[in-house]
Amino acid sequence: MTDVHSKAVRSKNMAAIKDRNTVPEMLVRGALHKAGFRYRLHVTTLSGKPDLVFPRYKAVIFVQGCFWHQHQCAMFHWPKTRTEWWRQKISANRKHDEAVQDKLRELGWRVMLVWECALKGKHKVPLQQLTLDIAHWLRHGSSFMELPFA
Ligand SMILES: [Zn+2]
Repeated sequence: MTDVHSKAVRSKNMAAIKDRNTVPEMLVRGALHKAGFRYRLHVTTLSGKPDLVFPRYKAVIFVQGCFWHQHQCAMFHWPKTRTEWWRQKISANRKHDEAVQDKLRELGWRVMLVWECALKGKHKVPLQQLTLDIAHWLRHGSSFMELPFA
């Protein structure tokens, strides 16, 4: 049997899989569900396959790993080996993220990024507070928002 995926497509798929159903994502999902919000998961028809989609609020949430998406925070460090490879990889991720967000906003979706560091590590935000912030944004928020607040 031949492998129909090119190497590039396959590594893209691997990256996507790694990013889904992570512990931080499950925390956000559980808390919002408990707060009464209903959402769709990993909607493949939308650019970037947002982790959570709230059609009623015309809003999407991405739960992002600080390393893979180069968050400006203490959880991001450039690896000490294969630095050039990592630079290319991470900067491609960032470009992809920006293109995805632009496309979604062009279609009238509001976009929120919930970074991993809001959910774990020493700077994490209490889940209850985070849930309130997300709920407030869903109901009244602007077209773009990041948590923790920059
Ligand atoms: Zn971070």
